Amino acid sequence: MAYDPSNIFARILRGEIPCQKVHETEHTLAFHDIRPQAPVHVLVIPKGAYVSWDDFSAKASDAEIAAFVRAVGDVARLVGVDASGYRLFANHGEHSHQEVPHLHVHITGGRPLGPLLTRP
Ligand code: 5GP
Repeated sequence: MAYDPSNIFARILRGEIPCQKVHETEHTLAFHDIRPQAPVHVLVIPKGAYVSWDDFSAKASDAEIAAFVRAVGDVARLVGVDASGYRLFANHGEHSHQEVPHLHVHITGGRPLGPLLTRP
């Protein structure tokens, strides 16, 4: 899948639409999800144009990958869910119901999150 530069997170990165920023580095941006599914629901995205985990893991530089992994941990500590626990997930493609075609890791927490997956 080719990267679509009109996706909503690309527009956030270009400053065309606002976000509630939590954290930013040279390679990453983190902001609150607009429709939170838990008391803490933050999205961490790379600044590079990567559709999903599949694209990022294949094409990103080692520096981008290291920065992204580091940022996810840093953000979880920053929003205070490291002690109580949190769940990370990243949707890729059709079966995951990925909505926004720019890689993002969801950090969710702030309450017990229940079982991992439910059947449709
Ligand atoms: P996905 O299903 O692609 O893994 O998740 C996309 C997430 O992006 C959803 O949780 C949705 O609420 C969030 N989202 C969609 N549009 C916006 C937006 O304009 N701003 C923010 N902050 N989050 C958004």
